[in-house]
Amino acid sequence: MTPRLQNKERTIIMVTSKKTINSTVSETNVKHKVAMLIFIICPILGLIFAIFSTWERYVTILDIALLLGLWLLTGLGVTIGYHRLLTHKGFQCFSSVRFVFYALGSMAMEGGALTWKAVHAVHHELSDKEGDPHSPLQGFIHAHCGWLFTNYSDRVYELRAHFMHTDKMARWFERTFAFWVVLSLVLPATIGGLSGFWSDSATWSWSSAWWAFVWGGLVRYGVTNHVTWSVNSICHMFGSRQFSTDDQSRNHLIVALLSFGEGWHNNHHAFPTSPRHGLRWYQFDPSWYIISTLRWLNLVWGLDKTLPDWQHSDKLIVN
Ligand SMILES: [Zn+2]
Ligand SMILES: [Zn+2]
Repeated sequence: MTPRLQNKERTIIMVTSKKTINSTVSETNVKHKVAMLIFIICPILGLIFAIFSTWERYVTILDIALLLGLWLLTGLGVTIGYHRLLTHKGFQCFSSVRFVFYALGSMAMEGGALTWKAVHAVHHELSDKEGDPHSPLQGFIHAHCGWLFTNYSDRVYELRAHFMHTDKMARWFERTFAFWVVLSLVLPATIGGLSGFWSDSATWSWSSAWWAFVWGGLVRYGVTNHVTWSVNSICHMFGSRQFSTDDQSRNHLIVALLSFGEGWHNNHHAFPTSPRHGLRWYQFDPSWYIISTLRWLNLVWGLDKTLPDWQHSDKLIVN
């Protein structure tokens, strides 16, 4: 067989494969977009439905407790587990601690651990430049949740493939992501249903299970996701800059309060590996307070290398 023929054959194979890939990609695209639309709309419908239903039924303390409790736990799973530990390696800890944070992060329903890490790593690599997965340079909506309807860049796939070889536990969480999503919806429903045993009926309550699912499942993951998306959108458009960084990152008090400290986003872009984002005493950063407490309990360590000497940094532009 001549090299020329080999080349021709290779071209035919490539064209055929490209057609197959293209049709698979477009099918995947449509399915992905529909799935994202359902994913974004369900919490909004759940919230509207729950609010209108208060004419007939009061929101119970259990509904609110599940909403706030699971928002707090899964939110911290993202901020401490996915972000400061997995992506930026801001500290080291025992495997059991890592497992708990990755599990909670997965239950936030913001994507598999390594997909999240790859998207975020590319965000830091190309912040507010071409290739940034969610820069507001393409508009606020794109930065907030519009980017979920677009394809990941080759760089995201490349990094994710690399991480799949380097982090065994996160790889396991990436592969079992669907289980954690189902668990995060079934868990509040089960707690709600079981609450019937403490009521007058003393039986399983389908009504309580349903409303616990709506508040602790649907509305909760909607809140958690919108808060994270606000860091990508609001904190690259509005707020103050205390450090000179090569991007549009900003500190925003309201986002910081809602996101357990992630809203000190300009600080974070200035010192990405720092597990502490609220660098000043008045910058409320509960994720950091928990990491500090875990350090005090000797459950995490290795912060000496990652905490920045920001007061003496030449990036400092506001005293
Ligand atoms: Zn950013
Ligand atoms: Zn980051």
